[in-house]
Amino acid sequence: MAKHAFLSASRAHQWLECTPSAMLELQFPATTSEYAEEGTAAHELAELTARYFLGEVSEVDFEARRDELAKGPYYSAEMQECANDYARLILDKVTEARKTCEDAFVELEVKVDFSKYVKEGFGTGDCIIVADKTLEIVDFKYGKGVRVEAEGNPQMRLYAVGAYLAYNALYDFELVRMTIFQPRLSGVQSSDEITVKELLTWAEKYVKPRARLAYKGEGEFAPSEDVCRFCRAKAQCKARTEKNLALFDESPDTFLLTPDEAGKILEKAADIQSWLTDLQNLVSSTLLDGKPVEGWKMVEGRSNRKFADELKVAEAMKAAGYDEALLYERKLITLTQMEKDFGKKAVAEVLGGLIVKPQGKPTLAPQSDKRPEYKPEAEILKAFEEA
Ligand code: SF4
Repeated sequence: MAKHAFLSASRAHQWLECTPSAMLELQFPATTSEYAEEGTAAHELAELTARYFLGEVSEVDFEARRDELAKGPYYSAEMQECANDYARLILDKVTEARKTCEDAFVELEVKVDFSKYVKEGFGTGDCIIVADKTLEIVDFKYGKGVRVEAEGNPQMRLYAVGAYLAYNALYDFELVRMTIFQPRLSGVQSSDEITVKELLTWAEKYVKPRARLAYKGEGEFAPSEDVCRFCRAKAQCKARTEKNLALFDESPDTFLLTPDEAGKILEKAADIQSWLTDLQNLVSSTLLDGKPVEGWKMVEGRSNRKFADELKVAEAMKAAGYDEALLYERKLITLTQMEKDFGKKAVAEVLGGLIVKPQGKPTLAPQSDKRPEYKPEAEILKAFEEA
């Protein structure tokens, strides 16, 4: 199993904000999820495909290794397509870099050491492109649940710090470019640039002191929806509990809430829903472990009737005189399943205009959301023009 740093780059957004969290988490076992395992499989395939595109692996070796990976439970045509897109992106970036720097080179799955700023800090960068003046970091994210932005992203910056320290002696870097490639979110690519001077100032003035606090488990807790999302202490953390419960202490002056007051409460309460789910999971798993929790018990959930044996059911209905054709329905698999099985591009090529995207229902989102604002007047005008 891969060794993980106590203060890892991938969790930096958490321990840099909430410095005591890394130490508090040690009380809880590290768990893995189906999504994490799927992500690991996708990374292996992406790396292999990129090496093949870059000419580091022969076709025969690529196919043999890919066939091995394809035996795993997570492999799909969609995963291969994402790996191809990632490999193409890397190849394009290297080709571009070589236009201005002949000896530009690329390294995949590189262990980077940033322990100069974070005690025992290291991580693995998916791709580093080294050229004169510019250092480029590319990160492949297979998940599609949460969109990850490159702008100000501490994980990417720590990889950049490690890569800078590793290659600085040979190259004269001025700029660092960081790109996150998240192909399952409609090929989202998000990039950020920072000068080497700004990067090193950030590492020295911001990261170093906070890493010192984090290493000792000191500093202030900083609960928020984003920071607590992957914290192993999140269900039992008192700081998060206090922050969420404090909401109920605030009583408005008048009898009725204004929409502005409701908006302010929603803003502060962003973490409440997932916090309640975390509490439910904690209490349920304790009870399922056979330990009591005052005021709670597990009961049998609601279940639906179903056929004990589908073949026997069909036989019985036919024997009773019902037409077999009426017993079955033929349904297309979903678009998501089709793309997973046959690949997004292949499906788009065959179906073209047969895939439509209906307009989504207006959904509430904070001002910080990247999507453009829904304007009811514009929609009415559009409907009027189309009529
Ligand atoms: S749950 Fe949130 S506030 Fe509590 S330790 Fe973890 S990250 Fe910090």
